[in-house]
Amino acid sequence: MKKLLIIFGLMAFATTYAQEHFCATHKQKYFQKSYGKAANNQQLNLMNGYDVKFHHINLNIERNSTVINGNVRTIAQVLVNQLDTFGFELHSNHTIDSVVISAGERLTVQHQSNFGYVVFNQPKIKNSLVDVTIYYHGDASVAAGAAIGSGFTTGSSTRWGNQATWSLSQPYSAYEWFPCKQALQDKIDSVYTYITTSNENKAGAIGVLKNIINLPNNKVQYQWQSTLAVDYYLISIAVAKYVEYNTYAHIDGDSMLIQDYIYDNPATLTTLKPELDNTAPMLEGFSNLFGKYPFWKEKYGHAMAPFSGGMEHQTMTSIGIVNFGIVAHELGHQWFGDHVTCKTWKDIWLNEGFATYCEYLALELLSPSEAPADMLAVHNTVMSQPDGSIWFDDTTNVSRMFSSRLTYNKAGAFVHILRYELNNDSQFFAILKLYQQQFAFGTASTFDFKTLLEQQSVKDFTQVFNQWFYGEGYPTFNVSWNQINDTLYLVSNQTTSSTTPLFITPVEFKITFAGGDTTLRIMHNQNQVWFKMPLNKVASLITIDPNNWIINRGTATKDVTIVGLNESNQHQTNIKIFPNPAQNQIQITGVNASSKVFVFDALGKVQISTALKNNNLDISALNPGIYWVEVKDGSNQGCVKFVKQ
Ligand SMILES: [Zn+2]
Repeated sequence: MKKLLIIFGLMAFATTYAQEHFCATHKQKYFQKSYGKAANNQQLNLMNGYDVKFHHINLNIERNSTVINGNVRTIAQVLVNQLDTFGFELHSNHTIDSVVISAGERLTVQHQSNFGYVVFNQPKIKNSLVDVTIYYHGDASVAAGAAIGSGFTTGSSTRWGNQATWSLSQPYSAYEWFPCKQALQDKIDSVYTYITTSNENKAGAIGVLKNIINLPNNKVQYQWQSTLAVDYYLISIAVAKYVEYNTYAHIDGDSMLIQDYIYDNPATLTTLKPELDNTAPMLEGFSNLFGKYPFWKEKYGHAMAPFSGGMEHQTMTSIGIVNFGIVAHELGHQWFGDHVTCKTWKDIWLNEGFATYCEYLALELLSPSEAPADMLAVHNTVMSQPDGSIWFDDTTNVSRMFSSRLTYNKAGAFVHILRYELNNDSQFFAILKLYQQQFAFGTASTFDFKTLLEQQSVKDFTQVFNQWFYGEGYPTFNVSWNQINDTLYLVSNQTTSSTTPLFITPVEFKITFAGGDTTLRIMHNQNQVWFKMPLNKVASLITIDPNNWIINRGTATKDVTIVGLNESNQHQTNIKIFPNPAQNQIQITGVNASSKVFVFDALGKVQISTALKNNNLDISALNPGIYWVEVKDGSNQGCVKFVKQ
């Protein structure tokens, strides 16, 4: 989900303010409201006795009211040896009229403190299906009067004037409008959403619109069906006077419907069409990067609702503000959040960090000149405070969980850092594709993601996670440099803003000279790193991290007092190379015998990327010259120079 700080007159990507994911604020407020109203452990245990297979939501809803009535049928498979009680969450604002199980048998329902249950006449045995239909009515507006932050809301758009009623259940608010089990790891295999409303309205929902049935008294029923697994908080409805705007994306030779429900207002579609028309090229581009759009058998679309942002409801994003960043963010969630959902709320960065990164990727795909400013804005937001980690433990600390700065921006920047560490885009995107395949229509944890990343890259990411994910703060590089004849000398001093004492990271330095530039990639494996390289042009400027790969600050200044390398500072590592100089083979000690190594030339280009064999490395293919070998195998890290003869 994403909400934007609205500053009228400013473009979304203006650099004068940092992008704010105000959904965070909304979720913080909302979580406080609903926390403690969600099921307790005993109730969760009861509900974990079954696996939800199917919901048929059948409700009467109008665009100007939060009063609803109807029924929800649930089919679930019994997971325990005997299930004698069927429990479900439903807000106490609702009155349950009756509960009917298969064969029309009515059961007595108990309903208090937002939890309902029925006791079966005969216990249900393991693997059998239970089929329960709950008839109810009530006012689903639990947070009455709140402009945002209700599971079920009605309101008018301040910009367009249109009325709408819509649901927004993340994280724990589905129970405010329908009887459900709010457990992330129990995805529902299929959901039918049938909404009856006045025939001047349209009703949007997840899946495919199978039918629109005209009913007496100027009513109409919208019948949506989805047969792809969905998490409880990604089921939604939106009812308003809409016009339908349809476009198509083209993936794998097929056309797929993009179905937008736009306020029925002459100016709305005309104004928003250019932004909405980015959806198809983004969807095609993301399909190339992450794998085919996961819900291609159904559709994608937007349904407008009067709130300041977007929410990634599966196949039908609810959207209040339509701009490039929000369209990209919510579309990215269809892969990261919907298709693969965070396993627990502690893993929420896997939803929000990747969706935030999708804003950047969409710019890379469609408007590359704007991408650097976007990442710079993300970094500046992260560095607006000196500390804070993406990781958190306390899920009762709501403001931390949905921290805009950490869960959205720092996590988005972290994904960019992982791409940089891999230093191989085809591998990076192959891993993201595999992540989508391995956890398709399921859930994944931080551990699951890190394990896959390490298995596929054959690289240990413990250090990277320790400093950027679990660790706090960011590095500042103070660089001094000088050029004497054909040699450039550079010394970089790293200080850090918080508790992480050193960020062991490659750092790029762009050296600008008359008629061109070159970029070095140096391993910053100590707080102070010295470097020299041959340069037969006159350097005029050094730029630190010119491509905004890592969260950092820095300055580079020419210092004529640097007249040579302080060799004693170069090799504070256990890693040794023998012989040096060498001809065909070097032996690298002080590391594991089969560590992964990278050999860089003097321009920072990778010349060899391989694993050591018994500590040996074949360098016969290298041209004579100076090289650096970088080793990262967890505890033994370093970057050591050698000469090929
Ligand atoms: Zn989001």
